[in-house]
Amino acid sequence: MASRSPKPELSRIEQLCLERGMKMTGQRRVIARVLSESEDHPDVEELHRRAAAVDRGISIATVYRSVRLFEESGILERHDFRDGRSRYEKASREHHDHLIDLESGQVIEFRDDEIEKLQRAVAERLGYRLIDHRLELYCKPLAGKKPAKRS
Ligand SMILES: [Zn+2]
Repeated sequence: MASRSPKPELSRIEQLCLERGMKMTGQRRVIARVLSESEDHPDVEELHRRAAAVDRGISIATVYRSVRLFEESGILERHDFRDGRSRYEKASREHHDHLIDLESGQVIEFRDDEIEKLQRAVAERLGYRLIDHRLELYCKPLAGKKPAKRS
C-alpha cells in the first residue's frame, strides 16, 4: 500500500522524469510520488484513487496521460494480466516474474534461477542470446494449501 507521508525530497520517479527533461507540474509530481511509493501493480483506477487522496483535483484523464508518458520514457513498465486492465510498476525494479491468482486476482512476484537459466539455454539452442523475457503464470490455488501472500 502507498504510504502518504509527505516527503520533501524528490521521489525516485520524479528524479527520473527530471533527468529526462520532463516538465513536472504539481499534479504530475503527485502521481510520480504515488507510483514511487507503490510496491504492487496498480491499474490506472487504483492510481487515481491514491493520487486523488493526496490532491482531489487530479482527474483520471491526468493519471492516464502521465502514466502513458512515464511508460513511453521507460520509467514505468506496463503489464497486461489478462483481466482487461493495464497494470503498472516501476521499470527500475529488479527482474522478477509474476504469478496471477485467477480466483483472487492477486499478483505474486517470484524469481527462479533455474527458470532464468533454462530460458537462456532455450534461446541459445535456437541460435539467440536472450535479452529479456516476461513470464506470467496463471493459477488457481491448490486445494488445501494456503497460497503465498503478496499483492
Ligand atoms: Zn512485478
